[in-house]
Amino acid sequence: RPVVTLSNVSKVFSSGTVALSTMSMTVEPGEFVSLLGPSGCGKSTALRIIAGLGGVSSGSVDWPSSRINAKGLPEGDIGFVFQEPTLLPWQTVFGNVYLPLRLQGVSKAAATSTVLETLDTVGLKDFADAYPRQLSGGMKMRVSIARALVTNPKLLLMDEPFAALDEITRQKLNDDVLRLWRETGITVIFVTHSVFEAAYLSNRIVVMKARPGRVHADFPITTSLERD
Ligand code: ADP
Ligand code: ADP
Repeated sequence: RPVVTLSNVSKVFSSGTVALSTMSMTVEPGEFVSLLGPSGCGKSTALRIIAGLGGVSSGSVDWPSSRINAKGLPEGDIGFVFQEPTLLPWQTVFGNVYLPLRLQGVSKAAATSTVLETLDTVGLKDFADAYPRQLSGGMKMRVSIARALVTNPKLLLMDEPFAALDEITRQKLNDDVLRLWRETGITVIFVTHSVFEAAYLSNRIVVMKARPGRVHADFPITTSLERD
């Protein structure tokens, strides 16, 4: 069953801006989809709708393989990584990654071991006690990724996560995300306006166009992992 399906989704903001118009897309388990397109074509809007963070004006969004709560939204199955790492400055790296688990009611002991495991996965094992302000941009991004992954989501959404980072850090994080994808089998939707990034990472590229935002092209691609 698909992880998420958008059917003829339109989104008109109260300002009158038509961000999306009849956008349709189905994402299957295990895909690494890059959502590519010029600034303002509705990529972030689409991602927020997929995350259940924004409503649609018409059309529908479904999460056929998720548990759905009383509000009709998927329950705890989706991790979200924003471009700006929105970390709590007064919490350590450990504390930031621990919080989502505690909010889900996971016991302290179980949460602690899961957090340490997740920090290890993203290369932050030795930084559990550091505070966000002590970390570089790339490290902060790793904390955001750990925080998104710690609840073991089926779907990882990333909204231009590495756009603000330098080229070398960005390339490293791209490699890490790709490795993580292969090792865990998680489904990823990755928003970028970089053709190079999309071609490097994805096994499917969905190109959007602006005014109004909708799917312009949708094609499979061999990931760089498979090319190697
Ligand atoms: P909706 O119609 O879905 O309720 P709104 O138009 O009320 O959305 O805007 C929701 C939020 O987005 C508001 O806090 C608003 O300040 C902010 N916002 C408004 N315009 C933009 C924009 N162009 N880009 C990003 N955020 C915006
Ligand atoms: P992208 O991520 O591709 O740059 P967005 O989804 O952020 O595009 O925005 C699509 C369009 O909707 C843009 O014209 C943007 O200004 C507008 N927009 C985004 N969020 C809001 C909002 N909350 N309220 C009003 N307009 C918005």
